Amino acid sequence: MKLVEIGTVAFDSIETPFGKTERTIGGAATYISLAASCFIDNSGLVSVVGDDFPVEFLSRIQEKGVDLTGLQVKKGEKSFFWSGRYHFDMNSRDTLVTELNVLLTFDPIMPAEYQDCEYLMLGNLDPKVQLKVIEQIPVRPKLVVLDTMNFWMDSAMDDLLKVIAKVDVLTVNDAEARQLSNEYSLVKAARRIMEMGPRCVIIKKGEHGALLFEGNKVFFAPALPLEEVVDPTGAGDTFAGGFIGYLAKTDNCSFENMKRAIIVGSALASFTCEKFGTDRLMDLTEEDIDRRVEEFVRLVDFDIEIVE
Ligand code: AMP
Repeated sequence: MKLVEIGTVAFDSIETPFGKTERTIGGAATYISLAASCFIDNSGLVSVVGDDFPVEFLSRIQEKGVDLTGLQVKKGEKSFFWSGRYHFDMNSRDTLVTELNVLLTFDPIMPAEYQDCEYLMLGNLDPKVQLKVIEQIPVRPKLVVLDTMNFWMDSAMDDLLKVIAKVDVLTVNDAEARQLSNEYSLVKAARRIMEMGPRCVIIKKGEHGALLFEGNKVFFAPALPLEEVVDPTGAGDTFAGGFIGYLAKTDNCSFENMKRAIIVGSALASFTCEKFGTDRLMDLTEEDIDRRVEEFVRLVDFDIEIVE
């Protein structure tokens, strides 16, 4: 299995200033695997759900080429549940409820065929679980990407720092980068985080795009100005799934290729914002993606002559 992704598979209840949805299907690993499936025919998902999770949805992910041997279904238990409310700018949100449920006792098992993965995406999840997954991989993958959030910084910082020390790329949003590094300047924050272990840091800034840092190099990818943003939930995970899916497909982890990968990740994330839950990702075509990447290229294309 070239690519393995871990993270939550969940029910989400979401409120935006413009609409509301109850117990829609979400979760970090759900978005990551669907986004990666746009580039990779076969990836493995490690996660856990309760027996309240709809089997039909699992079949739909499988049809996209996501292998579910690593997904545990716990009888008599409830799936992870998250609920959030977006502010008017849709860039910031409050978490209303996080019910860990089945995650409380989750012991991840990497199936034998996943253990030689070349690309590993550690999606948002308890850092203890992320560590257990890393420990089951005998040979270090070509690239390990970690995504996390303030919830784990508040509740499990020590374990989180242990995971951060073991990965190549960390993706966080701007507020989380500041919280983790105690630095206001994002340039200083990225430098501090790179000192903790990762070779690269990606700082996501919602509708203002994303920054990629490696050593002293920086690259900026915009977000597409969308006419209508219905629900940004999962945009960060979709970004991460698109990023690692593209790198795995092209099998090239250079800074230059990562620049392409964050454009592709941003393009996919823009689709996720167009509908509630995973609806838009589910029906994406290759043409949709190509057209959107072209829009990104046009968005930042300009000619300038510096007159001395
Ligand atoms: P994003 O909007 O990309 O930050 O991701 C939103 C997704 O993350 C939702 O579908 C939630 O189910 C999931 N999520 C929310 N809180 C957590 C958490 N503490 N750990 C793991 N996943 C979470």
